[in-house]
Amino acid sequence: MRPFGYSRPSSVSNAILEVREFLAADPQSSLSFLAGGTTLLDLMKLDVVRPERIIDLNALRDELGYTRSDGSALRLGAFARMADVAADAEVIANYPVIAQSLSLAASAQLRNMASLGGNVLQRTRCPYFRDPSWSACNKRVPGSGCAAVQGANRAHAVLGTSDHCIATYPGDFAQALVALDASIVIAGPRGNRTIPFDSLHRRPDGNPHLETSLQPGEIIAEFIVPARSWMRRSLYLKIRDRQSYEFAVAAAAVALDLDGGMVRDARIALGGVAAVPWRAREAEDALRGQPLTEAVARTAARLAFAEARPQSHNAYKIELGQSTLVRALLQASSMELRP
Ligand SMILES: Cc1cc2nc3c(=O)[nH]c(=O)nc-3n(C[C@H](O)[C@H](O)[C@H](O)COP(=O)(O)OP(=O)(O)OC[C@H]3O[C@@H](n4cnc5c(N)ncnc54)[C@H](O)[C@@H]3O)c2cc1C
Ligand code: SF4
Repeated sequence: MRPFGYSRPSSVSNAILEVREFLAADPQSSLSFLAGGTTLLDLMKLDVVRPERIIDLNALRDELGYTRSDGSALRLGAFARMADVAADAEVIANYPVIAQSLSLAASAQLRNMASLGGNVLQRTRCPYFRDPSWSACNKRVPGSGCAAVQGANRAHAVLGTSDHCIATYPGDFAQALVALDASIVIAGPRGNRTIPFDSLHRRPDGNPHLETSLQPGEIIAEFIVPARSWMRRSLYLKIRDRQSYEFAVAAAAVALDLDGGMVRDARIALGGVAAVPWRAREAEDALRGQPLTEAVARTAARLAFAEARPQSHNAYKIELGQSTLVRALLQASSMELRP
């Protein structure tokens, strides 16, 4: 472990003041926020990230640790713990895809510790990224190459990759947020702003080390999930190598608005197969106005993977991802909703 500066501000406004001072003194030095620490501390111990200053935001849990719903939207403070939101009765009843994406993630111990904000900002599990003895990793060392392209890439992405990086976005909760058209409130040295959640993660294109649209020193404060006609008929289906304590190899977050057996509207996001939380708009278009039969679901699933680019060891993810989506859609269509 390398030496680093540490502070623990008592409020968001104090945290932003500290950020301002720190960045003004040295805009080039590296700053990390600490929430549950379940990603950050791992990566520091592995010597993958080397922050010079850590601002511990755990005192903000009182201010930003809430789960609230007012009928028009669900509001989740970014420092709410994964386990608490997964167990919330309102979330389970009216936003099931959110509860399921959180309860199927990681382990009970991790969910008790980890925050929602830290969850969406977790880093890839690509083994070449997490082991600095590999010299070629554009995400860790910009311009160094990508060891995974010629290496062990069974777990890597087939959608949204580039020649510079084929890493999979590892989280689960983000897919639920994308499927439900969520937005996030960001607090930063230049004030607050709200952006659609699906513009948070950047595709790897030329600069895989730039993973999000957050500016230096910005803090995710809140997630806002609008109440819409499809949110109650929603679910998260996660396929993994073992049934617990494991990342997805394929996953689908789906939300449906049905009129009888016909699809009035649909929302789909894919996990485990893409470089970023992946909205499958072509598949959604193929479902609208159609009866939700297996044949229609299969057509939608084929469209969802039309742009897939397999690597040497991960072509299986295309068929697996399609089957996962078909199963998720059929399961969602047969959900019994309480009035
Ligand atoms: C063995 C293991 C298995 C796992 N399996 C899964 C899984 O199946 N599915 C899944 O989704 N996740 C999984 N995870 C990841 C786990 O869920 C994340 O580590 C956790 O959610 C991160 O939250 P945290 O609060 O601990 O974040 P931290 O580690 O504290 O922070 C993570 C990053 O986010 C930044 N950050 C944190 N909060 C904010 C904020 N509000 N604003 C701006 N920046 C912020 C930090 O600076 C840091 O860079 C697993 C982790 C482990 C160790
Ligand atoms: S896939 Fe991305 S994270 Fe993995 S080695 Fe290549 S550049 Fe690095």
